[in-house]
Amino acid sequence: MTEPAPTKVDMEKIVSLSRRRGFIFPSSEIYGGLSSCWDYGPLGVELKRNVKEAWWRAMVQERDDVVGLDTSIIMHPQTWVASGHIKSFSDPLVECKNCHLRWRADEVSGNKCPSCGGELTEPRQFNLMFKTFMGPVEEEANVVYLRPETAQGIFVNFQNVLNTTRKKLPFGIAQIGKSFRNEITTGNFIFRSREFEQMESEFFVKPGTDEQWFHYWLEERLNWYLKLGIKRENLRLRQHTKAELAHYARDCYDIEYQFPMGWAELEGIANRGDFDLVQHAKYSGKSLDYFDEETKEHITPYIIEPSAGVDRSVLAFLCDAYDEEPDKDEIRVVLRLHPRLAPVKVAVLPLSRRENLVKVATEIYAELRRCWTVSYDDAQSIGRRYRRQDETGTPFCVTVDFQSLEDEQVTIRERDSMNQIRVPIAALRDTLAAKLEGEDLFVLPPDGKIWKEGKDG
Ligand code: ATP
Repeated sequence: MTEPAPTKVDMEKIVSLSRRRGFIFPSSEIYGGLSSCWDYGPLGVELKRNVKEAWWRAMVQERDDVVGLDTSIIMHPQTWVASGHIKSFSDPLVECKNCHLRWRADEVSGNKCPSCGGELTEPRQFNLMFKTFMGPVEEEANVVYLRPETAQGIFVNFQNVLNTTRKKLPFGIAQIGKSFRNEITTGNFIFRSREFEQMESEFFVKPGTDEQWFHYWLEERLNWYLKLGIKRENLRLRQHTKAELAHYARDCYDIEYQFPMGWAELEGIANRGDFDLVQHAKYSGKSLDYFDEETKEHITPYIIEPSAGVDRSVLAFLCDAYDEEPDKDEIRVVLRLHPRLAPVKVAVLPLSRRENLVKVATEIYAELRRCWTVSYDDAQSIGRRYRRQDETGTPFCVTVDFQSLEDEQVTIRERDSMNQIRVPIAALRDTLAAKLEGEDLFVLPPDGKIWKEGKDG
């Protein structure tokens, strides 16, 4: 982590909003919580699913050169010998001789314990993989590990995918799933936790074309965050120094985001060369070659890996979207999330609980729910209800009022501008669909006409 950069949002506000509105809770909270483990609440789970879906859509669904995979968390223990994790996936640790707290050696200066001032030991390597036992007998022969990254599941299935899909180079395999690391220093909310999710793609290319593909993926990945609304000034690319490069990497860049605590890694993009396929071929005794029809040669592809964290992305999207603006005597908190990421797309708000209004509103609610995650709110004033939806990032509110009973039209109110338009109920679903897919806000639906324009409040 470098250059502390004060942004207008501080982490406490994000943590407090997440807690208050049901995005993220501390894990097992009734027992006092479990250090750096988090539970996603009703809105958080929707946001997280939307982040994963947006990634899958861009990385698999919209491409014809990438296929998906879902591999198991527990893998054959030899995997981790071949990958180098048993040998090198460790952090140097120092321990306080007095209070026995452990610290990452690169995060303390001098040899005094940051907590009690006691003397620290010499650094020792500490493996970050979680160990457990498979089967009923807890003995060394049965040790297995919870995967610390999803990538290895892809490498060991390279031949399976090749044989079943008949893909030609260059092609990729993508996977989203849980990973586990027994991190020594955690914190900064969901930024670094011990159980987290990754979105990883391994893109196999002919050696010699790797640099070109590496740069292609740097651009693609940076654009993914920009297209989903992250501000350009909060993103940067940082190349790893030679000393920093992981044992497998020929080159690596981090996409960094300006989090409230400073610039920090959001995603790593590495040129892994042929390291992984060579290693797994060596340890498994199975060929992981690719037969190049053009040159009639067997080659070992190079791999370009964009590896992103789901939870870190969620945090970045939350921080970037958070906004406060004066609203009469109060402050309007608004999450300006991209509509594709917003946990709830539309809120249906009947102006009152009168039976005839409720009937129309619930019919609209039932219809829209078939397409999106929609909420229904009839409690308190309409102004308060708009604010509640703003705070959780709902892009559109549909207000059903008494006029609706006569003219069969409703008001769509937009979160960011607070603009309102009036549309026929018959055109409501199509209008919302166009808006949610990112077409210009507030273009007229083909047969809709504006009844009222203005701001709420
Ligand atoms: P860091 O240096 O921050 O620990 P890393 O370089 O070890 O991260 P990678 O191994 O490159 O991370 O993992 C790829 C991505 O997975 C990271 O960019 C990050 O988004 C996510 N990630 C890694 N470790 C964690 C963690 N402990 N908690 C949450 N996300 C993580």
